[in-house]
Amino acid sequence: MVERLREEGIRDEIVLGAMAEVPRHIFVDEALQSRAYEDIALPIGFGQTISAPLTVARMLELARAGRTLSKVLEIGTGCGYQAAVLSRFVREVYSVERISALLGKARKGLRELHASNVKVKHADGHLGLEPMAPFDAIVMAAAAPAVPEPLTAQLAPGGRLVMPLGTREQKLVVIERTDRGLVETVLEGVNFVPMLPGTRV
Ligand code: SAH
Repeated sequence: MVERLREEGIRDEIVLGAMAEVPRHIFVDEALQSRAYEDIALPIGFGQTISAPLTVARMLELARAGRTLSKVLEIGTGCGYQAAVLSRFVREVYSVERISALLGKARKGLRELHASNVKVKHADGHLGLEPMAPFDAIVMAAAAPAVPEPLTAQLAPGGRLVMPLGTREQKLVVIERTDRGLVETVLEGVNFVPMLPGTRV
């Protein structure tokens, strides 16, 4: 899987190393485990998916931008795979998910991998996680039609928000908090599940 990610242009060896270490199959249903290392998104229930490995690698490479990350917030825990990858090179990982039924699964996988530096929370990601802010990076695993203001407000100086922006047509966007304010860079087209309002059981 990691060789393929390299061929696809992922250059960040820290991210690639973490992805080599974290088994992806434990985060998907047994019936799909034989496909866990293909470069595809897979269903995890509740109409949600585990992101394709290339998507995770790309997001995390952009979030890191060659820096050492102490504190990162993920929006959209899903099955917990991306949070587990983050746990390998980030000191403290926070992840929020709006569907509480997914959190049990995610916690189980993270426990199995001894990823004790990941804290997951049932909450609406549009609000970020104010008590734990500021974050060196915020990674959104679901697409929003506009940049949620609380998220940029919770970036540390030099911090980066990586998110899919748009509804039907989505682009990967990086927003960096610089000395001169927020700087937005629009990158390639992507296809994520939508951010939905509020929480549910
Ligand atoms: N990070 C996952 C991908 C999960 S898919 C992985 O490693 O594969 C995106 C997730 O975002 C879904 O589980 C969805 O329920 C969640 N989501 C959507 N809207 C949200 C919101 N407002 N707050 C928090 N999570 C949200």
